[in-house]
Amino acid sequence: YSPNTFDSREEYLTYYPGDKLSRHYGATRAVDDVTVAVSDEVQVLCLIGPSGGGKSTFLRLLGGLEVPTSGTVSFDGQPLPSDENSLREHRRGNGFLFQAFNLFPHLSAIGNVMLPLIQVHRWEQERAQARAEETIERFGLAKHRDKMPAQLSGGQQQRIALARSLAHEPDLLLLDEPTSALDPEMKSEVLDLVEELCQQGQRIILSTHEMGFARQSSDQVVFLADGKLIETGPSEAFFEDPESDQVKGFLSKVMRW
Ligand code: ADP
Repeated sequence: YSPNTFDSREEYLTYYPGDKLSRHYGATRAVDDVTVAVSDEVQVLCLIGPSGGGKSTFLRLLGGLEVPTSGTVSFDGQPLPSDENSLREHRRGNGFLFQAFNLFPHLSAIGNVMLPLIQVHRWEQERAQARAEETIERFGLAKHRDKMPAQLSGGQQQRIALARSLAHEPDLLLLDEPTSALDPEMKSEVLDLVEELCQQGQRIILSTHEMGFARQSSDQVVFLADGKLIETGPSEAFFEDPESDQVKGFLSKVMRW
């Protein structure tokens, strides 16, 4: 699609991940009446904005980890179910990765990749092992296969965690600030891997503070602040020529150094 035609909603914005979506925690409106339309050509969607703005909550709603206070979440025109069984099914179909260091410390790298295949997806041991090995190999992590998390750097741990979230070949990968707990050079080894996944056609929704990555690798950006949708649009146009003053102010601060 062309960024210039993006505004003609009817034609280009064909599915609504969030429709009048809200999630309140007591008096806090973490996500507050957010409607986001996304073109079906969007493969990588990026959530950005100030901390506490609602990115993580929005992502968790999309992944079925949270239930909306009101409004609906949908994918490809299908509203997310609200009963726990079907919701669990939806969650199982996705891959999730959160901020760094969430590997099980008592399991080796390969043990970590295998565990959800066996416990969540109910695969036989042998099949899980074969797939875990294949996935670790695919991500260039074979030499870390038998190491324990404590023997791995933060970046290596996060790449193993990424392998774990992808081993069952999810349609959609949800990443919640996957690099925010990492040192700069480790950030880039993780972002390189995410970029590779983008190139391979993996559908991804991620929240991030890495503006360079958002600009380069995502198709559409969603800017949230105080739980509200402030602006959304194709990434290139969004970064080059944002409309709202709030986004302009944010970008001029975070892109300054
Ligand atoms: P972001 O990811 O943009 O930093 P969050 O979605 O984590 O934003 O948080 C949005 C707001 O909702 C914040 O004020 C946060 O404190 C609040 N919040 C998020 N999750 C919870 C929760 N489980 N219980 C209470 N408040 C929460």
